[in-house]
Amino acid sequence: MIWLAQYLCPDRHCVIGMAYDPDNHSREAIEQMLDSVFTVGAVNRWCGLCGSKKLAVEHAATPFRTMDEAEPVLEKEQGKQMATRAAANAVRRWQARNN
Ligand SMILES: [Zn+2]
Repeated sequence: MIWLAQYLCPDRHCVIGMAYDPDNHSREAIEQMLDSVFTVGAVNRWCGLCGSKKLAVEHAATPFRTMDEAEPVLEKEQGKQMATRAAANAVRRWQARNN
């Protein structure tokens, strides 16, 4: 079974997530990897949609048995998230120009 770890704001917007096989990685190891992304500054430690800095990590099982099953679906979802972020950024730029 493949699991998904996500840093979520109180509105459940996902700031960053990672799929993993618990047979190969502990929860603690996954959280350390996700934390390192924040630490190096690759991702801001706040929600880009609502601005909340109250992030909580959540682990949940996915319906996928293997990473090969999970990857195409998760990549499609990642694409949707990136499109949402681009739209939110476009709205912010428009608001900044018009306020
Ligand atoms: Zn949020």
